Amino acid sequence: MANIQFQRVTKTFMDDKKGGTFTAVKDASFEIKDQEFVVFVGPSGCGKTTSLRMIAGLEKQTEGDILIGDRIVNRMHPKDRDIAMVFQDYALYPHMSIEENLSFGLKNMKHPKEEIKEKVDYASSILGLSELLNRKPKELSGGQRQRVAVGRAIVRNPKVFLFDEPLSNLDAKLRVQMRIELAQLHKRLGATIVYVTHDQVEAMTLGERIVVMNHGVIQQIASPRELYRNPINMFVAGFIGSPPMNFMNARLEQNKLWVEQQSYEIPANLIESYKAYDGKEVIFGLRPEDIYDVNFAFNIPMQNKISVKVDVVEHLGGENLVYFQVGERMVTAKVNGESVIHAGSQHDFVFNLSRMHLFDKQTEQRI
Ligand code: ATP
Repeated sequence: MANIQFQRVTKTFMDDKKGGTFTAVKDASFEIKDQEFVVFVGPSGCGKTTSLRMIAGLEKQTEGDILIGDRIVNRMHPKDRDIAMVFQDYALYPHMSIEENLSFGLKNMKHPKEEIKEKVDYASSILGLSELLNRKPKELSGGQRQRVAVGRAIVRNPKVFLFDEPLSNLDAKLRVQMRIELAQLHKRLGATIVYVTHDQVEAMTLGERIVVMNHGVIQQIASPRELYRNPINMFVAGFIGSPPMNFMNARLEQNKLWVEQQSYEIPANLIESYKAYDGKEVIFGLRPEDIYDVNFAFNIPMQNKISVKVDVVEHLGGENLVYFQVGERMVTAKVNGESVIHAGSQHDFVFNLSRMHLFDKQTEQRI
């Protein structure tokens, strides 16, 4: 079993400049299941890499316990943790051939020659590297180098793979391709994978579950669908989804939502859950795809219409992004590519309030 547990784990670093300490990961508790693909996501500096390095044993936690396969590994050396880590810069040996790069670790551990050959052949065949074994890293493309880095992890046949932003040096097209390859690889290897990225699209497409972090604190751990549908607070709501969720200042009054002197009908099934906030200011969240061009608003109630002056229209082909102002907030609508909407014109949109989100104005928690 290669499940991984954090039990109230905190990591503080000495802050040389200020002379105090800096908390990179704060009181984190979670369990990653055996063979699960879990992605850590969050903005730069939120503590993702530090979490990964603590699993690997490259960084020691200040407080709490880390368990791998139900054993406490707090004092266990990295090389005894049965873990392979793939870094952002791949860290290949430039003077060695691809074959030597792949076999280096096993040779060092004095594995028999035949076994090394078997493992290198296996890894290179599933990664499409068989034809490239005699080349040097500089003779490979970025994507191929990335595969070698993964191959080096595979030959060790570890129970746990750790990936730290492995695709960040690749161009957009290659990134999509490698993303698909990594998802397939996970199925094939049946290993536990922990993957760090700041790219929410990568997180949503790869992760069976996603850990969203901000300022060293885990905000929410959930499946991509759950994070998207039921974000626990405004940070998660704004971080997951592209373009991000719109936020508008609003007020609840007698089962209606008021936004800039206009009232909107709240769907009957949601009214009860908002009761406690009647008469209060709230933050109203609506994703761009839940705002429809009035001419393409089929199968949704039409009473929640808003008439606005359009600021900008971006044509993306299959869809258009339309920007307009609601009060002091800029709002984005993602509408049908066939929509004919011009910048500067007055246009009607429909809010699909069956997909509305409300947040407490003070705590920013979901209501
Ligand atoms: P990025 O996406 O930019 O890689 P991250 O979420 O992976 O960010 P970490 O590398 O985990 O962030 O760093 C978390 C915080 O801890 C950062 O503010 C960083 O400056 C700080 N930090 C990391 N390592 C050290 C260290 N050795 N000494 C002091 N501070 C550190």
